Amino acid sequence: MSTPTLPASTAAVLSGSADFAAELAPVLSPARPSEVVGWYAQASAAVVDEVVRTAAAAAPLWDGLGAPERGRLMAAAATALEDGIAERAELLTREQGKVLWESRLDVGGAPRLLRYYADLASTLDAEEVVRDERGMTVIRRVPMGPTVVIVPWNYPVYLCMMVLAPALAAGNPVIVKPSELAPLALTETLAILASHLPPGVVNVVPGSGPETGAALVSHPLVRKVLFTGGTRTGQSVLRGAAENITSVSLELGGNDPAIVLESAVVDDELVREIRRSVYTCTGQVCFNVKRIYVHRSLYDDFVDRFKAAVDEIVVGDGLHPESTIGPLNNRSQWESVTDLLARTEGQGGTVDVLGRAHPEARWDEGHFMLPSVVTGVGHEATVVGCEQFGPTVPILPFDDEDEAIRMANDTEFGLAASVWSDDVDHALALGRRLEAGSVFVNSHRVGSSDMTMPFGGMKRSGLGRNHGMWAIEECSELQALSHRPDTASFPGPPTT
Ligand code: NAP
Repeated sequence: MSTPTLPASTAAVLSGSADFAAELAPVLSPARPSEVVGWYAQASAAVVDEVVRTAAAAAPLWDGLGAPERGRLMAAAATALEDGIAERAELLTREQGKVLWESRLDVGGAPRLLRYYADLASTLDAEEVVRDERGMTVIRRVPMGPTVVIVPWNYPVYLCMMVLAPALAAGNPVIVKPSELAPLALTETLAILASHLPPGVVNVVPGSGPETGAALVSHPLVRKVLFTGGTRTGQSVLRGAAENITSVSLELGGNDPAIVLESAVVDDELVREIRRSVYTCTGQVCFNVKRIYVHRSLYDDFVDRFKAAVDEIVVGDGLHPESTIGPLNNRSQWESVTDLLARTEGQGGTVDVLGRAHPEARWDEGHFMLPSVVTGVGHEATVVGCEQFGPTVPILPFDDEDEAIRMANDTEFGLAASVWSDDVDHALALGRRLEAGSVFVNSHRVGSSDMTMPFGGMKRSGLGRNHGMWAIEECSELQALSHRPDTASFPGPPTT
C-alpha cells in the first residue's frame, strides 16, 4: 500500500485546515481492490464547523458580485475544465469502476453544466415591479446562503455539478461532501472550479456520510441541502435538517418501469436501446430501467432478442477498451445484488446469466458480475419491487394497457418511466397516466433528460426539481420589497 497522502486538489479546497492530515482512508479500485487509487480525508466535527463558517463568510461577497459577474467567473471555470477531461475520466474509472466512455460523459458534464448556468445567470438579477393604486412591490430572487451538496458515487461529477452550478449562479457559496467511494475525480474538478472563484465560495468537506454528512446537514449556518442518494439516507437527511428548518431538495432512488406496447416494433434498435437503459454503469444509475413490461403478443420474441443482446456484453476493467461494462462499485453493492438474485431463484424466478468475462479481468478479486435477465416472476417478486442497482432486470408480460399502468405505478418510487411504441401520440397519452417525474418515449437513459427539462422524482424518489430555472428556484428565495403608503386601506381596525 502506498504512503497515505492527501491529493493536492483536496488540500486546495479545504480552507487550509490542518486537521485533515489526521485521518486518511484509502480509495480502492473496484476492479482491483488491492490497488489504492488515492486517499480520502475524514473531516472532524471541528473541520465541518470551520468550513461552514468559511462559506458563510464568503456569502455576502459572492452575492454582491451580481449574477452576470458570477456567470462570467463560472464560464471561465468551464473553459478551464474543458482541459484534462481524459485524465480526470481515467481517474474516475479507476475509483468508480465504470467504463471510460461513461466516465468521460460524467466528467465532461461539469463544464457543460457550468456554462449552461453561467449563461442563465445573466437573467437572474431581473426584478419584477408590481404597481397598483396602493403603491409598489418589487419581487426579487435572493440566494439562501451556505449550501451543502451531498453526492453519490455512481455519477459523482455530473450529479454534483447538476445542483452545484445553479446554486452558484443563484449566489450561494457551496460546501460539497463527496461519497468516500468515489471522491477523487470530483475533488479534482472542484479544485479547478474553486481556483477561478473568490476564496470560500467552493469548499469540500471529505468524510463518511453518517458522521460528516450528517454534521453538515444539521449545522445551524447551513441554509440549504441539495442531496442526491438513496431514499433511506434522504429520510435521515430530512430528519437532520428539521432541527434548524433547513431547506432540503432530494434526488433519490428509483424503480423505473419500461412498458413495451403492442404497437412497438421489436427490432434490434429497440432491444439495444433498452439494453443500454438497463446496464449502463453496470445498472447503478438512479433512472436506469429496473423492470420491463412487454405486451404478451411480443413477450417471447422480446425476451429472446433481449437475452441475445445482453449476451454480447463484455464485463471487465473499465479501463480496458473491450469492456462494455465495469465491475460494481463496492463489495456491499455486489453482495446486495448477489443476494437478490439468489432470493429471486428461491422465489421461483429464472435468472439467465449472460455475457462474458473479459479474459484480463481479475474476476476473483474485483467486484465483477455478469449481466442477467430475470423471467418467470410475478409483479410481487422482490426483484420487481426493489431498486436492484446492479446488472439485472426482470421482464414481465401484460395483457392490456390498464394492467401495465397499474403495475408500473404500484411502487413507492416515481423517478422516471418509459413507453415504447411506434405510435408516439398514443405513447405520450399513456405517459400522462404514469406517476413519474420524467416519462420518456422510445428512450430511457443518461441523456434522455436534458438540462432544459425538469428532472426529479415523485413519491419517495425525491423532493424538488433540477435542470433549467427550476434548479435556480430550488436554491433561492423570493423576497417582496414593498412600499404601499395607503395603510388606511389595509384590512383590520382603523386605529389601535
Ligand atoms: P447513499 O448511500 O444514500 O449516499 C449518498 C451520499 O450521502 C454519499 O455522499 C454518502 O456518503 C452520504 N451519506 C450517507 N449517509 C448520510 C447521512 N446520514 N447524512 C448525510 N449524508 C449521508 O447513496 P449511494 O449509495 O451513494 O448512491 C446510490 C443511491 O443514490 C441509489 O438509491 C440511487 O438511486 C440514488 N441516486 C439518485 C439520483 C437521482 O438523481 N435521483 C442520482 C444518483 C443516485 P458516503 O458514501 O461517504 O458514506
